[in-house]
Amino acid sequence: MSKPAVENPTRILYIDDDPVNRTLVNRLLSNYNFKVTEAETGMEGLQIAQKNPPDLILMDINMPGLDGNETTTRMRGIGGLQDIPIVAVTAYTTKGSKELALAAGCNGYIAKPIDIDEFPHQVIAYLEGRQDNLTADEKQHYLGRYSQRLVERLETKILELEDANARLQKIDKVKSDFITVAAHELRTPITLVYGYAKLLQTTIEGTENPDTTNGGVYDLAGRIYHSVHRLSEVVNDILNISLIEANEMRIEQTPVDLKAVISAALQDIDPSKNDRQLDISFEDMDDLPPVTGDVRRLQQMFWNILSNAIKFTPDGGSILIKGWVVSPDPPDTEKTFNPSTQETQQSSVVVMIKDSGIGIDASEQKNIFDRFYIVDDTTYHSSSKTAYRGGGMGLGLPIAKGIIEAHDGRIWVESAGRNSKDNNPGSTFYILLPLDSTKNQSGT
Ligand code: ADP
Repeated sequence: MSKPAVENPTRILYIDDDPVNRTLVNRLLSNYNFKVTEAETGMEGLQIAQKNPPDLILMDINMPGLDGNETTTRMRGIGGLQDIPIVAVTAYTTKGSKELALAAGCNGYIAKPIDIDEFPHQVIAYLEGRQDNLTADEKQHYLGRYSQRLVERLETKILELEDANARLQKIDKVKSDFITVAAHELRTPITLVYGYAKLLQTTIEGTENPDTTNGGVYDLAGRIYHSVHRLSEVVNDILNISLIEANEMRIEQTPVDLKAVISAALQDIDPSKNDRQLDISFEDMDDLPPVTGDVRRLQQMFWNILSNAIKFTPDGGSILIKGWVVSPDPPDTEKTFNPSTQETQQSSVVVMIKDSGIGIDASEQKNIFDRFYIVDDTTYHSSSKTAYRGGGMGLGLPIAKGIIEAHDGRIWVESAGRNSKDNNPGSTFYILLPLDSTKNQSGT
């Protein structure tokens, strides 16, 4: 026979890491028309209770992570949970465990294994206001014991975390070293294949009737040449990120015309090759003063940012490249659109690259500057430097950031978020470069 429906059932949150106990208590109390919500850990219980405070909480004490006493103490510090009855349900029957639970903030204590007949009535008693008490002396004694135990647990956790952190750092270093060594080892054979492919092509080109048809030797040599070129770009990206991480990226100090550098990057990307229909335009770039920096590196930086703008903007979209000068004194108020990041110690140039593409969620705007970070699901990764939503290795922005910071500059992004439908909010990248960067003096 099914139980009668109740309009506003009493809600009970049961926190226990043992699924068998949870099922038993849930079934038992459901028969009494209680609505039971289960949580597997103290943290999960905290979240559920905060979101939707129940009428009573049944708390297992011996749980991994935050134990029941600690979860109770935490709940007692949260507005809205202070007055909810919390009852410890635990097999801990050692002397003092009941008192510790009361000192931690529980209203009472039910021993496990539960008495099937008694249990619902015990729960009802606590719902109706039952309160188990400690004498003042007991309370003082058990609070002291409880805080001592808390500090010991905290100490153990800190040691465990420090240990885990040291291990992670070691693993991260092994991984970084492996990537750097592998890239170095790959560079030599790649350079040879690259050189020989070019040589093969020029040798054929010099003959009287080079077979330039599709699939002919000249064409095949060209394909090898272009593929190896792409491979060497990948290896160079890895080596560059290693240099940036080791803070060893050196920059030349020469006057750099930013419009020329950006135009050269665009010419190299050449989105028209992939038949991308994009309106790419410049505004206020002609009269920008030159910055002091490394032409080659700055071109690479703009290449990375522009190729992203191209990749993440659908056909028919636009990319605007605009520049202006900001001065520290008096503050540039006219174009202070992002005061927290644009305040500057020295006269600088800001270049804005604004696309009308898919946009970037606020939660991802920091992550995209981390090495190897890719927003999209890598299962569907397809490598391209210009195709719509083509993928890379997640190194473009960290390298761009590294180059900009080696010039004492800053990069940040603004976007209203990513829209999965066809409505594209766009992304705007800002690159601030001091007119006179003297951070890293010349080198290679
Ligand atoms: P990759 O080298 O693979 O292109 P990046 O480090 O340059 O990687 O970029 C990381 C991620 O940031 C990209 O995978 C993409 O999801 C996101 N992203 C970068 N630029 C844009 C942009 N203009 N519009 C939308 N998403 C972008």
